[in-house]
Amino acid sequence: MGRPNVGKSTLFNRISGTRKAITAPEPGVTRDRHVEYAEWNGRRALVMDTGGWVPKSADLFETAIREQVEFALDECDIALLVTDAQTGTADIDLEIARMLQRGKVPVLLAVNKVDGPKQDPEVGEFYSAGLGDPIPVSAISGRGVAELMDLLWSRLPTLDTETPSRPRPLVAVVGRPNVGKSSFVNAILGENRHIVTDVAGTTRDAIDSEVAYYGQRFTLIDTAGLRRRTRVEEALEFYTTVRTRKAVDECDVAVVLIDARDGLVAQDVRIVQEAEDGGKGIVIAINKWDLVEKDSHTAIRLEAEIDSKLPSLSYVPKIFISSLERQRVHKTVEQLLKIHEERQKRISTPELNRLLELVMEENPPPSHKGRDLRIHYVTQPASEPPLFVFWMRHAEFLAPHYKRYLERRLREQYGFTGVPIRLAFRQKT
Ligand code: GDP
Ligand code: GDP
Repeated sequence: MGRPNVGKSTLFNRISGTRKAITAPEPGVTRDRHVEYAEWNGRRALVMDTGGWVPKSADLFETAIREQVEFALDECDIALLVTDAQTGTADIDLEIARMLQRGKVPVLLAVNKVDGPKQDPEVGEFYSAGLGDPIPVSAISGRGVAELMDLLWSRLPTLDTETPSRPRPLVAVVGRPNVGKSSFVNAILGENRHIVTDVAGTTRDAIDSEVAYYGQRFTLIDTAGLRRRTRVEEALEFYTTVRTRKAVDECDVAVVLIDARDGLVAQDVRIVQEAEDGGKGIVIAINKWDLVEKDSHTAIRLEAEIDSKLPSLSYVPKIFISSLERQRVHKTVEQLLKIHEERQKRISTPELNRLLELVMEENPPPSHKGRDLRIHYVTQPASEPPLFVFWMRHAEFLAPHYKRYLERRLREQYGFTGVPIRLAFRQKT
Protein backbone atom coordinates (compact mmCIF):
# COMPACT_ATOMS: atom_id res chain seq x y z
CA MET A 1 0.00 0.00 0.00
CA GLY A 2 0.97 3.65 -0.27
CA ARG A 3 0.11 6.81 -2.11
CA PRO A 4 -0.01 6.94 -5.91
CA ASN A 5 3.19 6.98 -8.01
CA VAL A 6 5.57 5.58 -5.43
CA GLY A 7 5.86 2.43 -7.57
CA LYS A 8 3.43 0.02 -5.92
CA SER A 9 2.23 -1.62 -9.08
CA THR A 10 5.78 -1.92 -10.42
CA LEU A 11 6.81 -3.58 -7.17
CA PHE A 12 3.70 -5.75 -7.17
CA ASN A 13 4.59 -6.99 -10.64
CA ARG A 14 8.14 -7.73 -9.51
CA ILE A 15 7.01 -9.72 -6.51
CA SER A 16 4.28 -11.64 -8.26
CA GLY A 17 6.36 -12.18 -11.38
CA THR A 18 3.62 -10.91 -13.66
CA ARG A 19 5.60 -8.32 -15.55
CA LYS A 20 4.59 -9.94 -18.74
CA ALA A 21 1.22 -8.57 -19.69
CA ILE A 22 -1.29 -11.25 -18.85
CA THR A 23 -3.34 -11.90 -21.90
CA ALA A 24 -6.66 -13.43 -21.14
CA PRO A 25 -7.81 -16.37 -23.23
CA GLU A 26 -11.21 -14.78 -23.84
CA PRO A 27 -11.46 -11.56 -25.80
CA GLY A 28 -12.63 -8.57 -23.84
CA VAL A 29 -11.37 -9.96 -20.56
CA THR A 30 -8.38 -8.36 -18.96
CA ARG A 31 -7.07 -10.21 -16.00
CA ASP A 32 -6.96 -8.39 -12.74
CA ARG A 33 -3.47 -7.14 -12.07
CA HIS A 34 -3.90 -6.21 -8.45
CA VAL A 35 -4.17 -9.64 -6.85
CA GLU A 36 -1.78 -12.46 -7.65
CA TYR A 37 -0.17 -15.42 -6.00
CA ALA A 38 3.58 -15.19 -5.51
CA GLU A 39 5.86 -18.02 -4.51
CA TRP A 40 9.05 -17.52 -2.57
CA ASN A 41 11.17 -19.90 -0.52
CA GLY A 42 8.74 -22.66 -1.41
CA ARG A 43 5.72 -20.95 0.03
CA ARG A 44 2.83 -19.32 -1.75
CA ALA A 45 1.22 -16.09 -0.63
CA LEU A 46 -1.51 -13.92 -2.05
CA VAL A 47 -0.13 -10.47 -2.83
CA MET A 48 -2.38 -7.48 -3.28
CA ASP A 49 -1.78 -4.05 -4.66
CA THR A 50 -4.34 -2.30 -2.52
CA GLY A 51 -3.46 0.98 -4.12
CA GLY A 52 -5.17 -0.20 -7.24
CA TRP A 53 -8.23 1.89 -6.69
CA VAL A 54 -6.74 5.03 -5.19
CA PRO A 55 -7.40 7.85 -7.66
CA LYS A 56 -4.43 9.99 -8.60
CA SER A 57 -6.53 13.15 -8.39
CA ALA A 58 -7.60 14.72 -5.11
CA ASP A 59 -11.08 13.39 -5.74
CA LEU A 60 -12.02 10.95 -2.98
CA PHE A 61 -8.33 10.55 -2.25
CA GLU A 62 -8.48 10.63 1.54
CA THR A 63 -11.42 8.25 1.65
CA ALA A 64 -9.74 5.83 -0.68
CA ILE A 65 -6.53 5.83 1.36
CA ARG A 66 -8.51 5.13 4.51
CA GLU A 67 -10.31 2.25 2.77
CA GLN A 68 -6.94 0.92 1.72
CA VAL A 69 -5.66 0.89 5.29
CA GLU A 70 -8.83 -0.66 6.71
CA PHE A 71 -8.71 -3.34 4.10
CA ALA A 72 -5.08 -4.19 4.79
CA LEU A 73 -5.70 -4.38 8.51
CA ASP A 74 -8.80 -6.55 8.17
CA GLU A 75 -7.77 -8.90 5.43
CA CYS A 76 -4.01 -9.21 5.40
CA ASP A 77 -1.38 -10.95 7.46
CA ILE A 78 1.29 -8.37 6.68
CA ALA A 79 1.14 -4.81 5.38
CA LEU A 80 3.93 -3.33 3.29
CA LEU A 81 3.96 0.44 3.12
CA VAL A 82 5.73 1.61 -0.03
CA THR A 83 7.34 5.03 -0.14
CA ASP A 84 9.45 6.91 -2.68
CA ALA A 85 13.10 7.88 -2.19
CA GLN A 86 12.87 10.48 -4.94
CA THR A 87 10.19 12.51 -3.21
CA GLY A 88 11.20 11.74 0.37
CA THR A 89 8.65 11.32 3.14
CA ALA A 90 5.32 12.95 2.38
CA ASP A 91 2.75 13.87 5.02
CA ILE A 92 0.42 11.24 3.70
CA ASP A 93 3.11 8.53 4.12
CA LEU A 94 3.38 9.41 7.78
CA GLU A 95 -0.37 9.49 8.15
CA ILE A 96 -0.73 6.03 6.61
CA ALA A 97 2.06 4.80 8.85
CA ARG A 98 0.22 6.08 11.92
CA MET A 99 -3.04 4.44 10.86
CA LEU A 100 -1.26 1.16 10.23
CA GLN A 101 0.46 1.21 13.60
CA ARG A 102 -2.92 1.20 15.31
CA GLY A 103 -3.74 -2.20 13.86
CA LYS A 104 -2.56 -5.63 14.92
CA VAL A 105 -0.90 -6.50 11.63
CA PRO A 106 2.90 -6.39 11.29
CA VAL A 107 3.97 -3.54 9.03
CA LEU A 108 7.13 -3.27 6.95
CA LEU A 109 8.33 -0.13 5.22
CA ALA A 110 9.89 -0.22 1.76
CA VAL A 111 11.62 2.78 0.25
CA ASN A 112 11.35 2.40 -3.51
CA LYS A 113 13.36 3.94 -6.35
CA VAL A 114 16.65 3.35 -4.58
CA ASP A 115 18.06 2.39 -7.96
CA GLY A 116 21.73 2.42 -7.00
CA PRO A 117 24.16 3.09 -4.14
CA LYS A 118 23.94 6.80 -4.91
CA GLN A 119 20.39 6.87 -3.54
CA ASP A 120 21.18 4.82 -0.44
CA PRO A 121 21.64 7.86 1.83
CA GLU A 122 18.07 8.97 1.06
CA VAL A 123 16.75 6.05 3.06
CA GLY A 124 17.70 7.44 6.48
CA GLU A 125 14.93 10.02 6.68
CA PHE A 126 12.31 7.26 6.48
CA TYR A 127 13.09 6.21 10.04
CA SER A 128 10.76 9.07 10.96
CA ALA A 129 7.80 6.92 9.90
CA GLY A 130 8.36 4.92 13.05
CA LEU A 131 8.07 1.57 11.28
CA GLY A 132 11.53 0.27 12.05
CA ASP A 133 14.29 -0.16 9.49
CA PRO A 134 13.26 1.16 6.08
CA ILE A 135 14.01 -1.42 3.37
CA PRO A 136 15.58 0.07 0.24
CA VAL A 137 14.40 -1.41 -3.07
CA SER A 138 14.26 -0.60 -6.73
CA ALA A 139 11.14 -2.09 -8.22
CA ILE A 140 12.34 -1.19 -11.70
CA SER A 141 15.73 -2.90 -11.52
CA GLY A 142 14.89 -5.50 -8.90
CA ARG A 143 17.58 -4.29 -6.56
CA GLY A 144 16.79 -5.28 -2.96
CA VAL A 145 13.58 -7.08 -3.92
CA ALA A 146 14.85 -10.53 -2.94
CA GLU A 147 15.86 -9.24 0.49
CA LEU A 148 12.47 -7.59 0.85
CA MET A 149 10.70 -10.82 -0.05
CA ASP A 150 12.84 -12.74 2.45
CA LEU A 151 11.72 -10.33 5.16
CA LEU A 152 8.07 -10.46 4.13
CA TRP A 153 7.97 -14.22 3.91
CA SER A 154 9.75 -14.64 7.24
CA ARG A 155 6.86 -12.74 8.83
CA LEU A 156 4.12 -14.90 7.34
CA PRO A 157 2.08 -16.55 10.05
CA THR A 158 2.88 -20.18 10.62
CA LEU A 159 0.39 -22.43 8.91
CA ASP A 160 -2.37 -23.28 11.32
CA THR A 161 -2.65 -27.02 11.44
CA GLU A 162 -5.09 -26.69 14.31
CA THR A 163 -7.94 -25.58 12.06
CA PRO A 164 -10.66 -28.13 12.72
CA SER A 165 -11.44 -30.19 9.69
CA ARG A 166 -14.64 -29.23 8.00
CA PRO A 167 -16.94 -31.68 6.27
CA ARG A 168 -16.27 -31.83 2.57
CA PRO A 169 -17.11 -30.73 0.00
CA LEU A 170 -16.00 -27.22 0.81
CA VAL A 171 -18.29 -25.05 -1.24
CA ALA A 172 -17.59 -21.49 -2.37
CA VAL A 173 -20.56 -19.39 -3.42
CA VAL A 174 -19.05 -16.73 -5.62
CA GLY A 175 -20.09 -14.04 -8.07
CA ARG A 176 -20.20 -10.32 -8.63
CA PRO A 177 -21.70 -8.03 -5.99
CA ASN A 178 -25.51 -8.20 -5.92
CA VAL A 179 -25.95 -11.36 -7.97
CA GLY A 180 -27.60 -12.91 -4.94
CA LYS A 181 -24.90 -14.84 -3.07
CA SER A 182 -26.23 -14.02 0.38
CA SER A 183 -29.76 -14.81 -0.72
CA PHE A 184 -28.61 -18.15 -2.09
CA VAL A 185 -26.78 -19.02 1.10
CA ASN A 186 -29.77 -17.93 3.18
CA ALA A 187 -32.03 -20.06 1.05
CA ILE A 188 -29.91 -23.07 1.94
CA LEU A 189 -29.48 -22.21 5.60
CA GLY A 190 -33.09 -21.16 6.04
CA GLU A 191 -34.47 -24.34 4.61
CA ASN A 192 -32.36 -26.50 6.69
CA ARG A 193 -32.87 -27.13 10.36
CA HIS A 194 -29.56 -28.81 10.90
CA ILE A 195 -26.78 -26.30 10.64
CA VAL A 196 -24.20 -28.23 12.55
CA THR A 197 -21.87 -25.52 13.73
CA ASP A 198 -20.27 -22.31 12.73
CA VAL A 199 -16.53 -22.82 12.64
CA ALA A 200 -13.85 -20.23 12.25
CA GLY A 201 -12.59 -20.29 8.70
CA THR A 202 -9.01 -19.85 7.70
CA THR A 203 -9.63 -16.26 6.71
CA ARG A 204 -9.64 -13.71 9.47
CA ASP A 205 -13.14 -13.20 10.84
CA ALA A 206 -14.65 -15.65 8.40
CA ILE A 207 -17.35 -17.93 9.71
CA ASP A 208 -17.96 -21.04 7.66
CA SER A 209 -21.20 -22.94 7.95
CA GLU A 210 -21.26 -26.69 8.24
CA VAL A 211 -24.48 -27.80 6.74
CA ALA A 212 -26.44 -31.00 6.74
CA TYR A 213 -28.81 -30.62 3.84
CA TYR A 214 -31.33 -33.41 3.67
CA GLY A 215 -28.78 -35.64 5.28
CA GLN A 216 -25.83 -34.59 3.12
CA ARG A 217 -23.06 -32.77 4.90
CA PHE A 218 -20.93 -30.04 3.41
CA THR A 219 -19.32 -26.73 4.33
CA LEU A 220 -20.22 -23.34 2.92
CA ILE A 221 -17.09 -21.21 2.88
CA ASP A 222 -17.94 -17.83 4.27
CA THR A 223 -17.96 -14.93 1.88
CA ALA A 224 -19.89 -12.66 4.20
CA GLY A 225 -17.03 -10.21 4.05
CA LEU A 226 -18.52 -9.24 0.73
CA ARG A 227 -21.23 -7.47 2.66
CA ARG A 228 -18.73 -5.02 4.01
CA ARG A 229 -19.64 -1.38 3.58
CA THR A 230 -17.50 0.74 1.38
CA ARG A 231 -17.56 4.24 0.07
CA VAL A 232 -15.42 3.67 -2.98
CA GLU A 233 -16.86 1.50 -5.71
CA GLU A 234 -13.49 0.31 -6.97
CA ALA A 235 -12.72 -0.85 -3.45
CA LEU A 236 -15.81 -3.04 -3.39
CA GLU A 237 -14.72 -4.66 -6.61
CA PHE A 238 -11.34 -5.25 -5.08
CA TYR A 239 -12.74 -6.91 -1.96
CA THR A 240 -14.86 -9.10 -4.14
CA THR A 241 -11.86 -10.15 -6.18
CA VAL A 242 -9.79 -10.98 -3.11
CA ARG A 243 -12.54 -12.85 -1.30
CA THR A 244 -13.37 -14.76 -4.43
CA ARG A 245 -9.75 -15.76 -4.92
CA LYS A 246 -9.44 -17.00 -1.37
CA ALA A 247 -12.73 -18.88 -1.37
CA VAL A 248 -12.13 -20.47 -4.77
CA ASP A 249 -8.65 -21.47 -3.69
CA GLU A 250 -9.96 -23.30 -0.63
CA CYS A 251 -13.00 -24.93 -2.16
CA ASP A 252 -13.78 -28.28 -3.78
CA VAL A 253 -16.72 -26.92 -5.73
CA ALA A 254 -17.52 -23.35 -6.75
CA VAL A 255 -21.11 -22.27 -7.26
CA VAL A 256 -20.77 -19.31 -9.61
CA LEU A 257 -23.83 -17.13 -9.46
CA ILE A 258 -24.67 -14.90 -12.38
CA ASP A 259 -27.57 -12.53 -12.94
CA ALA A 260 -30.06 -13.89 -15.46
CA ARG A 261 -30.85 -10.38 -16.64
CA ASP A 262 -27.23 -9.64 -17.59
CA GLY A 263 -26.17 -13.03 -18.90
CA LEU A 264 -22.49 -13.91 -18.60
CA VAL A 265 -20.41 -10.73 -18.29
CA ALA A 266 -16.61 -10.38 -18.35
CA GLN A 267 -16.24 -10.46 -14.59
CA ASP A 268 -18.25 -13.70 -14.42
CA VAL A 269 -15.99 -15.24 -17.04
CA ARG A 270 -12.97 -14.34 -14.95
CA ILE A 271 -14.42 -16.02 -11.87
CA VAL A 272 -15.28 -19.17 -13.79
CA GLN A 273 -11.78 -19.25 -15.23
CA GLU A 274 -10.23 -18.92 -11.80
CA ALA A 275 -12.15 -21.97 -10.69
CA GLU A 276 -11.17 -23.80 -13.85
CA ASP A 277 -7.48 -22.86 -13.44
CA GLY A 278 -7.62 -24.20 -9.91
CA GLY A 279 -9.14 -27.47 -11.09
CA LYS A 280 -12.24 -26.91 -8.98
CA GLY A 281 -15.69 -28.33 -9.56
CA ILE A 282 -17.96 -25.71 -11.12
CA VAL A 283 -21.69 -25.17 -11.40
CA ILE A 284 -23.14 -22.00 -12.88
CA ALA A 285 -26.36 -20.88 -11.20
CA ILE A 286 -28.26 -18.36 -13.27
CA ASN A 287 -30.01 -16.47 -10.53
CA LYS A 288 -32.99 -14.09 -10.47
CA TRP A 289 -34.71 -16.23 -13.05
CA ASP A 290 -38.00 -14.98 -11.59
CA LEU A 291 -37.22 -11.50 -12.95
CA VAL A 292 -36.81 -12.58 -16.55
CA GLU A 293 -39.67 -12.40 -18.98
CA LYS A 294 -39.61 -15.79 -20.55
CA ASP A 295 -40.97 -17.69 -23.46
CA SER A 296 -40.24 -21.33 -24.18
CA HIS A 297 -36.88 -20.51 -25.81
CA THR A 298 -35.42 -18.09 -23.29
CA ALA A 299 -33.51 -20.66 -21.26
CA ILE A 300 -32.06 -22.39 -24.30
CA ARG A 301 -31.03 -19.08 -25.83
CA LEU A 302 -29.32 -17.92 -22.64
CA GLU A 303 -27.53 -21.21 -22.24
CA ALA A 304 -26.33 -21.09 -25.84
CA GLU A 305 -25.09 -17.56 -25.31
CA ILE A 306 -23.10 -18.64 -22.27
CA ASP A 307 -21.62 -21.61 -24.12
CA SER A 308 -20.57 -19.37 -26.99
CA LYS A 309 -18.67 -17.15 -24.55
CA LEU A 310 -17.03 -20.08 -22.81
CA PRO A 311 -16.90 -22.84 -25.40
CA SER A 312 -14.26 -24.81 -23.51
CA LEU A 313 -16.52 -25.05 -20.49
CA SER A 314 -19.52 -26.75 -22.02
CA TYR A 315 -19.12 -29.47 -19.37
CA VAL A 316 -20.23 -27.04 -16.67
CA PRO A 317 -23.88 -27.50 -15.70
CA LYS A 318 -26.07 -24.41 -15.79
CA ILE A 319 -29.12 -24.20 -13.58
CA PHE A 320 -31.77 -21.50 -13.69
CA ILE A 321 -32.62 -20.55 -10.15
CA SER A 322 -34.31 -17.99 -7.97
CA SER A 323 -32.72 -17.64 -4.57
CA LEU A 324 -35.49 -15.34 -3.49
CA GLU A 325 -38.27 -17.77 -4.38
CA ARG A 326 -36.12 -20.79 -3.54
CA GLN A 327 -36.53 -22.20 -6.97
CA ARG A 328 -34.12 -25.02 -7.80
CA VAL A 329 -31.83 -24.16 -4.90
CA HIS A 330 -32.16 -27.74 -3.78
CA LYS A 331 -31.33 -28.96 -7.26
CA THR A 332 -28.20 -26.80 -7.24
CA VAL A 333 -27.08 -28.41 -3.99
CA GLU A 334 -27.67 -31.89 -5.41
CA GLN A 335 -25.67 -30.91 -8.45
CA LEU A 336 -22.71 -29.63 -6.47
CA LEU A 337 -22.62 -32.76 -4.34
CA LYS A 338 -22.64 -34.84 -7.50
CA ILE A 339 -19.81 -32.74 -8.96
CA HIS A 340 -17.78 -33.32 -5.81
CA GLU A 341 -18.12 -37.08 -6.33
CA GLU A 342 -17.24 -36.80 -10.00
CA ARG A 343 -14.12 -34.86 -9.14
CA GLN A 344 -12.91 -37.68 -6.89
CA LYS A 345 -13.55 -40.38 -9.44
CA ARG A 346 -10.76 -42.66 -10.62
CA ILE A 347 -10.93 -44.84 -13.68
CA SER A 348 -8.91 -48.02 -13.66
CA THR A 349 -6.04 -48.39 -16.10
CA PRO A 350 -7.42 -51.48 -17.92
CA GLU A 351 -10.75 -49.74 -18.42
CA LEU A 352 -9.12 -46.59 -19.73
CA ASN A 353 -7.01 -48.55 -22.17
CA ARG A 354 -9.97 -50.47 -23.51
CA LEU A 355 -11.58 -47.13 -24.27
CA LEU A 356 -8.39 -45.77 -25.81
CA GLU A 357 -8.12 -48.72 -28.14
CA LEU A 358 -11.71 -48.27 -29.25
CA VAL A 359 -11.29 -44.54 -29.75
CA MET A 360 -8.14 -44.96 -31.81
CA GLU A 361 -9.75 -47.62 -33.91
CA GLU A 362 -12.65 -45.34 -34.75
CA ASN A 363 -10.51 -42.28 -35.29
CA PRO A 364 -6.75 -42.83 -35.34
CA PRO A 365 -4.50 -39.92 -34.43
CA PRO A 366 -3.35 -38.13 -37.59
CA SER A 367 0.32 -38.89 -38.27
CA HIS A 368 2.76 -36.03 -38.57
CA LYS A 369 5.25 -36.15 -41.48
CA GLY A 370 5.27 -39.89 -41.40
CA ARG A 371 5.68 -40.10 -37.63
CA ASP A 372 3.51 -42.64 -35.89
CA LEU A 373 1.43 -40.79 -33.31
CA ARG A 374 -0.39 -43.76 -31.91
CA ILE A 375 -0.86 -43.57 -28.16
CA HIS A 376 0.60 -46.54 -26.32
CA TYR A 377 -1.37 -46.35 -23.15
CA VAL A 378 -3.18 -44.07 -20.75
CA THR A 379 -3.43 -43.86 -16.97
CA GLN A 380 -5.20 -41.66 -14.47
CA PRO A 381 -2.58 -40.99 -11.80
CA ALA A 382 -4.58 -38.32 -9.94
CA SER A 383 -8.03 -37.05 -9.10
CA GLU A 384 -9.29 -33.75 -7.68
CA PRO A 385 -8.92 -32.69 -10.43
CA PRO A 386 -8.66 -35.81 -12.58
CA LEU A 387 -5.44 -36.10 -14.56
CA PHE A 388 -5.02 -38.42 -17.53
CA VAL A 389 -1.57 -39.16 -18.85
CA PHE A 390 -1.18 -40.45 -22.40
CA TRP A 391 2.11 -42.16 -23.23
CA MET A 392 3.32 -42.00 -26.80
CA ARG A 393 6.26 -41.24 -29.04
CA HIS A 394 6.52 -37.74 -30.53
CA ALA A 395 3.97 -36.38 -28.08
CA GLU A 396 4.79 -32.84 -29.15
CA PHE A 397 3.30 -33.40 -32.59
CA LEU A 398 -0.14 -34.55 -31.55
CA ALA A 399 -2.71 -32.16 -33.03
CA PRO A 400 -4.72 -30.03 -30.56
CA HIS A 401 -8.01 -31.09 -32.14
CA TYR A 402 -7.16 -34.71 -31.39
CA LYS A 403 -6.53 -33.82 -27.76
CA ARG A 404 -9.95 -32.16 -27.60
CA TYR A 405 -11.42 -35.24 -29.22
CA LEU A 406 -9.86 -37.45 -26.54
CA GLU A 407 -11.29 -35.23 -23.81
CA ARG A 408 -14.71 -35.37 -25.44
CA ARG A 409 -14.62 -39.14 -25.59
CA LEU A 410 -13.50 -39.41 -21.98
CA ARG A 411 -16.39 -37.20 -20.93
CA GLU A 412 -18.89 -39.12 -23.07
CA GLN A 413 -17.82 -42.29 -21.36
CA TYR A 414 -17.25 -41.19 -17.78
CA GLY A 415 -19.12 -37.91 -17.33
CA PHE A 416 -16.98 -35.72 -15.11
CA THR A 417 -19.82 -33.22 -15.20
CA GLY A 418 -18.73 -29.86 -13.85
CA VAL A 419 -15.15 -31.02 -13.38
CA PRO A 420 -12.16 -29.67 -15.29
CA ILE A 421 -10.00 -32.58 -16.40
CA ARG A 422 -6.34 -32.38 -17.30
CA LEU A 423 -4.75 -34.26 -20.17
CA ALA A 424 -0.98 -34.69 -20.33
CA PHE A 425 0.97 -36.23 -23.19
CA ARG A 426 4.27 -37.76 -22.25
CA GLN A 427 7.15 -39.10 -24.21
CA LYS A 428 7.52 -42.85 -24.29
CA THR A 429 10.86 -43.88 -25.69
P1 GDP B 1 1.88 3.30 -8.19
O1 GDP B 1 0.95 4.40 -8.56
O2 GDP B 1 2.35 3.43 -6.76
O3 GDP B 1 1.35 1.93 -8.48
O4 GDP B 1 3.24 3.53 -9.04
P2 GDP B 1 3.69 2.86 -10.42
O5 GDP B 1 4.17 1.46 -10.21
O6 GDP B 1 2.67 3.10 -11.45
O7 GDP B 1 5.00 3.74 -10.71
C1 GDP B 1 4.97 5.14 -10.79
C2 GDP B 1 6.17 5.64 -11.57
O8 GDP B 1 7.37 5.37 -10.85
C3 GDP B 1 6.31 4.95 -12.91
O9 GDP B 1 6.71 5.93 -13.85
C4 GDP B 1 7.40 3.93 -12.69
O10 GDP B 1 8.12 3.65 -13.86
C5 GDP B 1 8.27 4.62 -11.67
N1 GDP B 1 9.00 3.66 -10.82
C6 GDP B 1 8.49 2.56 -10.21
N2 GDP B 1 9.46 1.90 -9.55
C7 GDP B 1 10.62 2.59 -9.75
C8 GDP B 1 11.98 2.39 -9.33
O11 GDP B 1 12.34 1.43 -8.65
N3 GDP B 1 12.89 3.32 -9.75
C9 GDP B 1 12.53 4.39 -10.51
N4 GDP B 1 13.50 5.23 -10.88
N5 GDP B 1 11.27 4.59 -10.94
C10 GDP B 1 10.31 3.72 -10.57
P1 GDP C 1 -24.86 -10.58 -3.01
O1 GDP C 1 -24.26 -9.21 -2.98
O2 GDP C 1 -24.35 -11.37 -4.17
O3 GDP C 1 -24.75 -11.33 -1.73
O4 GDP C 1 -26.43 -10.37 -3.33
P2 GDP C 1 -27.69 -10.38 -2.35
O5 GDP C 1 -28.03 -11.75 -1.94
O6 GDP C 1 -27.49 -9.38 -1.29
O7 GDP C 1 -28.82 -9.90 -3.37
C1 GDP C 1 -28.78 -8.62 -3.96
C2 GDP C 1 -30.22 -8.20 -4.25
O8 GDP C 1 -30.81 -9.09 -5.19
C3 GDP C 1 -31.11 -8.24 -3.02
O9 GDP C 1 -32.00 -7.15 -3.08
C4 GDP C 1 -31.86 -9.56 -3.16
O10 GDP C 1 -33.12 -9.54 -2.56
C5 GDP C 1 -31.99 -9.66 -4.67
N1 GDP C 1 -32.07 -11.07 -5.12
C6 GDP C 1 -31.21 -12.06 -4.83
N2 GDP C 1 -31.60 -13.20 -5.42
C7 GDP C 1 -32.74 -12.92 -6.09
C8 GDP C 1 -33.63 -13.69 -6.91
O11 GDP C 1 -33.46 -14.89 -7.16
N3 GDP C 1 -34.71 -13.02 -7.43
C9 GDP C 1 -34.94 -11.71 -7.18
N4 GDP C 1 -36.02 -11.17 -7.72
N5 GDP C 1 -34.13 -10.97 -6.43
C10 GDP C 1 -33.04 -11.55 -5.90
